[in-house]
Amino acid sequence: MKKVMADYFYELDEAARTGSRKIAWCTSVGPAELLRAMGFLVYFPENHGAMLGATRMAQDCIPLANAAGYSPEICSYLTSDVGACIKGETPLSRAYPGIERPPRPDVLVYNTNQCRDVQDWFAWYADKFKVPLLGVCTPRGVNEVTSAHIDSVAAQFIALAPKLEEISGSKFDLDKLKEAVSLSLECSRLWRKVLETAGNVPSPLTFFDATIQMGPAVVLRGTKPAVDYYKTFLAELQTRIKDGVWAIEGERHRLYWDGMPIWGKLRDLSGFFAGLKTCVAASTYCNSWIFEDLDPADPFKSMAMAYTRLFIVRSDEKKEEYIRDMVRKFGIDGILFHDSKTCPNNTNSRYGMPERLQKTLDIGTVTIFGDLNDLRCYSEEQSKTKIEAFIEQLEN
Ligand code: SF4
Repeated sequence: MKKVMADYFYELDEAARTGSRKIAWCTSVGPAELLRAMGFLVYFPENHGAMLGATRMAQDCIPLANAAGYSPEICSYLTSDVGACIKGETPLSRAYPGIERPPRPDVLVYNTNQCRDVQDWFAWYADKFKVPLLGVCTPRGVNEVTSAHIDSVAAQFIALAPKLEEISGSKFDLDKLKEAVSLSLECSRLWRKVLETAGNVPSPLTFFDATIQMGPAVVLRGTKPAVDYYKTFLAELQTRIKDGVWAIEGERHRLYWDGMPIWGKLRDLSGFFAGLKTCVAASTYCNSWIFEDLDPADPFKSMAMAYTRLFIVRSDEKKEEYIRDMVRKFGIDGILFHDSKTCPNNTNSRYGMPERLQKTLDIGTVTIFGDLNDLRCYSEEQSKTKIEAFIEQLEN
């Protein structure tokens, strides 16, 4: 993992320093395949945001973005990342010696399928670096995905190609797009299989492991290194299952995590749940990088389908259907909802969903209040007390 991620960041850094390759910044569920097919190296600011959260550098960066007019109430990936840029700091320097800053973009490409914050976030950088800002607007709260949705999103992807040609200086090549889509699909299938190993009771990995292991699926999908990585990792997990090596010693309970991770508390929470003999076995978040609707035979339409059928884009009805399936598939006995203060888009506990799922699944739920990056919003003591009480309830 360290090598795969280091190779990825050093390649970007070299390209940015020497100008040897054009660089596109892309939202995490944006059209990465198209950008790769056009010859760009692709960088994902959300991944940088997560690193700022995990290293807790976010705390010192967020106020700088707030002072620049970006509210403490909006996405703390945005405020951490913009704040870090203003401050001139990056966790990349600590993790990868020699890298001084994130790679300068030649173009920024967003998809609003996840939220509007990404558009504003990228607009800030487009203004700072004076580079083009391109994007796709996807409908949200979608119940059934219809051909009208797909045609609209696919047409927007197609319209990006000539603009990207101008920036990259290379002609759009359908075969290259098919190849990137094919690699992305293979990566998705492997990543799903990796996550499904946690369906084994007991489980060889937890949600907390998966938040780290998902790195290549996010930043390298559409490339061969990502495919190779998950082949190796899947084989390792299968060996662990065969040998009886489990993530939680004496696993007694299995939870589903809905919502964002709390990046600055991953290790702490991982240990906390292990102490409670509880495996957080599945999550909405880690499953969000499975794009099995991709089809190299019809790349644009299948990309539109894959990026619109995502959980975060859908209606509550569809989200509940999805969670119910996950609960059954992974042998879950309780659902934890993380109400993430600055990400209403990835928070599903505010409109009665926990109560509805309690009824239809006859299962307990607990909601904790926190945030992806802004630890000022995380009530640690209250959350842990709530979780302990919830596990006790499951025990009974
Ligand atoms: S989905 Fe949430 S965490 Fe992700 S970029 Fe949008 S607001 Fe931020």
